[in-house]
Amino acid sequence: MQTQIPPRFFQMLQEVWGFSNLRESQVQAITAALDGNDALVVVPTGGGKSLCYQAPAVFRGGVTIVISPLIALMKDQVDSLKQLGIPAARWDSSLTPSEKRSIISGLNEQKIRLLFASPERALQKDFLDLFRGNNVHSIAIDEAHCVSQWGHDFRPEYRNLLNLRNAFPNASMMALTATATEQVQQDIVNQLQLRNPSISVHSFDRPNLTYRILPKENVVEQCCRIIDRHKFNSTPNQDHSASNDTRIGGIIYCLRRTDVDQLTTALKQVGYSAIAYHAGLSNEERQRAQEAFMNEQVDVVVATIAFGMGIDRSNVRFVIHTSIPKSMESYQQETGRAGRDGLNSECILLFSMRDANSITKLIEKSAEENQSSPEWIQTQLKNLQDFVAFCKTPCCRHRSITEYFGQNYSLENCNACDYCLGELDVVKNSKVIAQKILSCVHRMGERFGMNAITDVLIGSNALEIQKRGHQSLSTFGILKEFTRKEIRNWIEQLVGLNALCVDGQQYPVLKLGPKAKAILFGSDTPVLTQLSGPISDEGGKSLARFFYDQTLFFRLREWRHETASQVGVAPSILFPDYVLAELSAKRPSTIEAMRSITGIGEQQLQAHGLHILEVIQSYCELKLVSMDQPLTFPSSALRSSYDELFRTAKPIAEIATLLRVTEETVTKYLVDAILAGEVSNIDPWVPPDTTRQICSIADKLGGDRLKPIFEELQGQTTYSAIRLAMAIRKTGALQKVT
Ligand code: ADP
Ligand code: MG
Ligand code: ZN
Repeated sequence: MQTQIPPRFFQMLQEVWGFSNLRESQVQAITAALDGNDALVVVPTGGGKSLCYQAPAVFRGGVTIVISPLIALMKDQVDSLKQLGIPAARWDSSLTPSEKRSIISGLNEQKIRLLFASPERALQKDFLDLFRGNNVHSIAIDEAHCVSQWGHDFRPEYRNLLNLRNAFPNASMMALTATATEQVQQDIVNQLQLRNPSISVHSFDRPNLTYRILPKENVVEQCCRIIDRHKFNSTPNQDHSASNDTRIGGIIYCLRRTDVDQLTTALKQVGYSAIAYHAGLSNEERQRAQEAFMNEQVDVVVATIAFGMGIDRSNVRFVIHTSIPKSMESYQQETGRAGRDGLNSECILLFSMRDANSITKLIEKSAEENQSSPEWIQTQLKNLQDFVAFCKTPCCRHRSITEYFGQNYSLENCNACDYCLGELDVVKNSKVIAQKILSCVHRMGERFGMNAITDVLIGSNALEIQKRGHQSLSTFGILKEFTRKEIRNWIEQLVGLNALCVDGQQYPVLKLGPKAKAILFGSDTPVLTQLSGPISDEGGKSLARFFYDQTLFFRLREWRHETASQVGVAPSILFPDYVLAELSAKRPSTIEAMRSITGIGEQQLQAHGLHILEVIQSYCELKLVSMDQPLTFPSSALRSSYDELFRTAKPIAEIATLLRVTEETVTKYLVDAILAGEVSNIDPWVPPDTTRQICSIADKLGGDRLKPIFEELQGQTTYSAIRLAMAIRKTGALQKVT
């Protein structure tokens, strides 16, 4: 029954959007739209839902009405459509009379392809009147989960959209959402009375997000470290034009407003660019925060979950949760704001059992205030418990999330979570340790909290312990070889595994949980983990799947920032990061070559092509790097990439660029390779004369300190050359050199 998408459509796609192909998740919906059929599209954030209605709207002509829940979202879409040269507008209360008139004449002249409106607005008479005698081809309902009261953002106005459908019975309708359980999907179909819709549901998984869960320690310090890691990614060579303003984007979620304010102040004090966002601020303050973030004038937004759906900045590179969210669904929503452009981004959660307890209290309090039903409380507590279990179960995070939402996950190793990246070690004696902890809880009569239990297990001689006579318990000091931190972490994991549970009216008390018995009697073997060490900088991923020149990427971002403010749109709307990444990988030398870059359409090429070429050309001349390169992809192991590059004797600066690391790091690897005998000739990197000179000075001075050699040479060579020469001297390969 389905027709093929015609070749002319793909021509248009290339010309207008600069996309060479559709994504798998877009084909079915677009086919339906071109055939004039209804469709329901469930594709995760960043999956490319907008194109599903935008491209058919442009291709078929006529006008498409798009319903979007927030002005900010509409504005971003209209802005980016205009950049592509597609006539689009939004109909809202902020329009001046002259703006209104120009929209009306645009519609009458059949010029406007997409008209955006909120659900309330779309049902008002003045809006419906706009279309008298106009050809409304289709209606797109974005964020369609708002229709359903089972969804997470129920908006009663969405229910009335059925009337919009009735006003234009010949138009096809497309409903789009990122998350919808089967119940919500069915609800959307029923509420909007979709007619025999084509339904396409895609994997919930977001492969470009790396998930990590760390024990919560010092939040400020932990956040700084994460921000730094992402800063490092953008300025590997300490490029001067860029070093003081890195313009990364991240969101830090906190539980309470006071946490937001404190953390923002602390981050600002140590020199980070951060801004607060929560419901306690005035409308203007919140708007200002959102705009500053969107326009990349501020790096980090510290927020309560009030900061959300309106954020369409596609290059959010990290989302930090400083406290646990209230459910898996919230987590999926909140982390979903990272990496909408498809480039690699990171989601870090700082876990503490204490937060879980605070949230339990908040749920109980709110239930009391609102006289909620016992079922409501049960659901909330179950959601929280599921989330704690997710955090504390040693398993691939992508798998856990996908399976939680009822889908299969096929990868053995996702390569994008703390578990699969080997950042968590499985503890060897998990079974015995778990048994010791559980029996200690039992011996103490299930009447104590985390601290008291930890005290007994490590054999603390705190006064409290002696007062209670706990030092005579058989479990006193049975885990004394471990640190307090390790034990606390394991106790939390046992809570996650349902072997312990938290209870208590006055203060949280640990009790044996439903799984305790099986573990104590040895029929169930729990797996406990511990952090295997800090996350290394080099373990931080590159943004793209291919190699690209980081410094050039950064230059292009600077150019984009300036140009965007001249044009009056947000930088990531002018060009998404993935366009700049591909530009800095291929370094095109002509407008023609630039056509092959994904995401640059003709209009953009006309408007900005020459300026981009200028930036690329002057960079390449300065750095002596060649233009018109093919995309290259990293081999599986970083190590083998180094070996390969050393074998082909590439300059250190070039290797650094290719592998997105500093020159020091490359030198370090090269020294290792020399010492391991894998590299025996350093002539490509250090002139033979210099090597000889360095070695003879080293012989003369004795010892192997670098500084005296450097001083002796009076700055005629670099530390890195000295390191390499000293390494070769050590291996004895020197004999061949001198
Ligand atoms: P969603 O609404 O599903 O969150 P968007 O519509 O905002 O996703 O699209 C996410 C990103 O994917 C955008 O940067 C968009 O330009 C890009 N994109 C969409 N379709 C394609 C395609 N066929 N080829 C390349 N990039 C695409
Ligand atoms: Mg969208
Ligand atoms: Zn994984």
